[in-house]
Formats: sequence, structure tokens, C-alpha cells
Amino acid sequence: GVKSYQFMLRTKNPCGKVTNRLYLVMDDLADEFGTGTLRLTTRQTFQLHGILKKNLKTVMSTIIKNMGSTLGACGDLNRNVLAPAAPYTKKEYVFAQETAENIAALLTPQAGAYYDLWVDGEKIMSAEPPEVVKARNDNSHGTNFPDSPEPIYGTQFLPRKFKIAVTVPTDNSVDILTNDIGVVVVSDIDGEPQGFNIYVGGGMGRTHRVETTFPRLGEPLGYVPKEDILYAIKAIVVTQRENGRRDDRRYSRMKYLIGEWGIDKFRTVVEHYYGKKFEPFRELPEWEFKSYLGWHEQGNGALFCGVHIDSGRIGGNMKKTLREIIEKYNLNVRITPNQNLILCDIHHSWEEPITVALAQAGLLQPTEIDPLNLTAMACPALPLCPLAITEAERGIPQILKRIRAVFNEVGIENNESVVIRVTGCPNGCARPYMAELGLVGDGPNSYQVWLGGTPDQTSLAKCFTNKVKVQNLEKVLEPLFYSWKSKRLQGESFGSFTTRIGFDKLQELVEKWEGP
Ligand code: SF4
Repeated sequence: GVKSYQFMLRTKNPCGKVTNRLYLVMDDLADEFGTGTLRLTTRQTFQLHGILKKNLKTVMSTIIKNMGSTLGACGDLNRNVLAPAAPYTKKEYVFAQETAENIAALLTPQAGAYYDLWVDGEKIMSAEPPEVVKARNDNSHGTNFPDSPEPIYGTQFLPRKFKIAVTVPTDNSVDILTNDIGVVVVSDIDGEPQGFNIYVGGGMGRTHRVETTFPRLGEPLGYVPKEDILYAIKAIVVTQRENGRRDDRRYSRMKYLIGEWGIDKFRTVVEHYYGKKFEPFRELPEWEFKSYLGWHEQGNGALFCGVHIDSGRIGGNMKKTLREIIEKYNLNVRITPNQNLILCDIHHSWEEPITVALAQAGLLQPTEIDPLNLTAMACPALPLCPLAITEAERGIPQILKRIRAVFNEVGIENNESVVIRVTGCPNGCARPYMAELGLVGDGPNSYQVWLGGTPDQTSLAKCFTNKVKVQNLEKVLEPLFYSWKSKRLQGESFGSFTTRIGFDKLQELVEKWEGP
């Protein structure tokens, strides 16, 4: 018979913004050309699985015509730029989102060939702000390939994919420290944005049994005044373009360059392309994880509602109901970096009917959902991802239920939670190395157990043990959770607890465990 190839397609939506029309189009495309489900990703985009090669052109041109974009969703270039998904009208939120959109535009591939390849030569481009065009074409510090249609990327693009997030102080809904570049709005005392703190060198991916590959947190590079941000970003990207390793993809992310050079040398090289010195990093308040689930005021009289979606998978009755609501009330939506959906621009009088309709489709308010599910994430893994070694999305519902059962067994209350993330391979798409309990596929039905992330997503977990068969998870988790329950300090999170006690002691506990 004829072999049919299937493709996976990601969209690009800076800040996770999805217009009403684009949502409806994606919903239709999933039925017509995909597997009948939509998936929200950890980078605030849609993924459509199961697109046949013969339909790829139709699907892509439909998305582009409806104002989404697939450019830069894959490949060795800048990926979707994250920003807080909450549709707050507060100045600094709007500014963070505008900045994310400008950075996304700056780093979008320019070459006509790229468009021709995908949509039959039909070029559909949105107007770019003049400051973006100016920054892209600026060659005053020798950053550009002046004769190339890709002034920043040239013909070689980047050594590897590149990830950027923008946020405001305290709001760590974007896992800011896991990105190649993390940008934080700094405002004056009246809330007027003045500039940005910049972190560099975060990244999750690693390779099993290769100790020289590792997840890494971003570290402070410095502060720039707001008018310089695009130039600073460009200088960082060019530094990686010129110096990142291209001989071995395992070491080609910018985190390895910074790891090798150290931040001071890296800063000096970036300053050469930037043409200025960075100012000292501004002091900012502590980070908090924000989920935006449930009902909130936008700040302009309207409401928004964050809807929790397990593993970002929208299918069946849930898909039908979401579509009906979004269509009926003409809502714009946003995708969060935790794979949830925010319904925006809702009148107060619609709150009740929408809450009822959501609940009837099983989309409950956050207070009615097990808190373990609210912060958990899993990547698609089997059968969708070619790199997967074992299950993640399909396995996580059962794993969370079993962990809740362990909590009951050892006497942990129902309102207690732990950040759990599961991936099917060490690439780490669901950012498992930031979890309090990360499960990373390392064999058929087996996982590495990572411990030590924190609920605010600011510490890196470490590998606690390898090759735990999924059916044996309780043997490791029961002693750990029991000792957390009995020995933790007031309010101490599981992640901080495991770090304070130390892995040697915890390993001893697991070995000697005979039940609570
Ligand atoms: Fe695939 Fe690995 Fe990413 Fe999961 S973490 S989606 S298995 S590449």
C-alpha cells in the first residue's frame, strides 16, 4: 500500500495569545486533518498531531491566513517567546507582552524562500513595528550578514534551538530560569517600566549517561534601559551564533558556552556586539509560581477564567464545550506555559453560565481539582514523539492518583501538593528538572527520579535514583513522603525538604523502608 507520513505541527504565538478566530480554525483543523484533539504545549503554543504530509500545505496556509504562524516553531532558531498569559491591563504586564512580541518579530526568519517553501509562494506577513526593523538591520557593531536576506541568522541559522521568556517581577508563570534568555521588566516606583534585568544560560536538555550534559539555570547578565532591549537580545543571539558549538548537537545550546566561558567572559563578548556595558542587575522581589486558574479581574471591567487542562490535551466533550463557549461569547484565549487555557474578555453576567457549562464538560474550577494535577506537567512522549523512551502524558493520570494514595497512606492532607513533572526522555520538554519530583524516562516503563526543585521554580533538581520501574514507584516515594510528613519544618515544601535532608540520608531511608 501507499505509505502515509504523519507530521506534527506547532504554531507560534508569542505570550500564548490566540485570537477568537485562530482558536476556531485550530479546532476545525484538528478534526479535519489531525487526530481530533488539540494539544497546548509548555511553550504556549498549539500542537497538532497526525497531519498527513499531503495535507501539510493546506493546514499551514490556513493557520498563517488566520493570523497564527508556524514560522520559527521548530528548527535551530528562536522558538516561541514566553510571557505571562494573564490578560491583565496593568502597565507592566502589557509592556512585558509587547516586548515578547517585538523580540519574536526581531528573530523571525526573513527569507522569502522560507515562506515559499511552506505556502506556495504566497507571502503573508504582518506589519512590524519600525523599531524592530531598525534593530534587525542595524550593523553598527558588526553583528549582521549585511548581504543576506537573514541579517541575523545568515545561512547557518543558530547552532541549536533558542528559547526566550519575558516576565514581570514576582511572576514566574514562565519558568524564567529555564530559558536561554530570561527578560524581566523593571519599573520605577510609579509602575512605569524603565528597563530590564536579563538572565542568560538556562536550559533543560541532557543526555543519559553523559555527565557533561546537564540542565542549567539562567544567571544574571545585567540590566539594560528599555530602549536598548532589542539590541541587547540581538547581541546575545549573535554571541551564541558565532561561538556556540556546531560540531556536536549535545553541547550546542548556549548554556554550554556560558558554562565553559563563565559569565564574565560571556558578558564581555556580548558587550562587544552590543556596543555598551551592561548596568548592574536591579534587585527584585522573590519569584512566585502563578497559574491564573479560576476567575480573575482583568483590570478593565472584564473577567478572565483560567481553565485547567490535564497535559494540555483538549479532546472529546471538553473540546466541543470549549469551542461552543469561545464561539458563543466571541472570546479571545491565551495558552499558559503550564499547558492551561485562559478565556479572556468575559462580562460579569457570563461568569455563571460559563462556569456551569465548563463543569458539565468536566472542566472544574481549581478548588475542585486535586492540587497535584494543578501543577503537574507531562510531555507527549509515546506514541507521538520519536525520541520517547517511555510513557509520559498517557501515564501521568495514574501516577498522580497513586501519589495521592501514598499521601493518604502516610497521612498527608488533601490540600497538600508537590510539583510533579514527567517526560519520556532526558530532553526535558516538560521541564522535569525544575520539579520537586521529576520523573525522566530512562528505559521501557522506567524512570530516573529527580528531587529538589521548588514550588516557585527557582532551584534545579538533582538525580536521586535511576531505573525505577513504574510499578515500583511507591517503594521510593512512600518513604520519601513519609519522612517529609514527619520531619518537615513549618510550611517546608517537599523540594526544600529533600535538599535540606540530603540524598545520602534519604537513600538510606528508602533502602531500609518497611512501611509506615
Ligand atoms: Fe519527546 Fe523527550 Fe520532549 Fe518528551 S521530553 S516530548 S519524549 S523529546
